[in-house]
Amino acid sequence: MTVEDWDRSGIRAANVCVACHAPLIAGAVTISAIVIRDERFLREDRCAACSSTVPVDSVSQWTSRRPADAKGPRRLDFDSLLELFVRMEGRSDDASLRLRWIVGLLLMRRRLLSVTGRRVEDGREILVLKPRGEEKTYDVKDPGLDDDAAESLRDDLSRIFDLDRRTV
Ligand SMILES: [Zn+2]
Repeated sequence: MTVEDWDRSGIRAANVCVACHAPLIAGAVTISAIVIRDERFLREDRCAACSSTVPVDSVSQWTSRRPADAKGPRRLDFDSLLELFVRMEGRSDDASLRLRWIVGLLLMRRRLLSVTGRRVEDGREILVLKPRGEEKTYDVKDPGLDDDAAESLRDDLSRIFDLDRRTV
């Protein structure tokens, strides 16, 4: 999957709360979380009433308003992706590092992150990335994905973001 594919993808949102199964309607406050289960990423959406049931080990969570259900391909929600990127700071497990790298590349392409430095440690490139309009920077290490790992990550991202191959 290329960054261009991401640009054409829609962000997947479940139609019901994973905790209470209440429908998530347009305009409703929704709490989304990325969790790792069996070394795979899953996305969970909850209604506001169930916000306290987000697993404590979630990689990231963010709150948004459910968009009106537009016809046609939905746009990737870049604000949510940036939130995901920032909130993954400090996580050092391999799965999180891989996800963060891919998300970082995507946000760089969209100029929501800029590169303020780069260096090599232990043979791996580290990019210093800064969100637009912020002063804080984040070190993001190239996870050195091999083909199998990259394929696995594509599967995860397809499920999380409901990749839509239709061209916009
Ligand atoms: Zn609920």
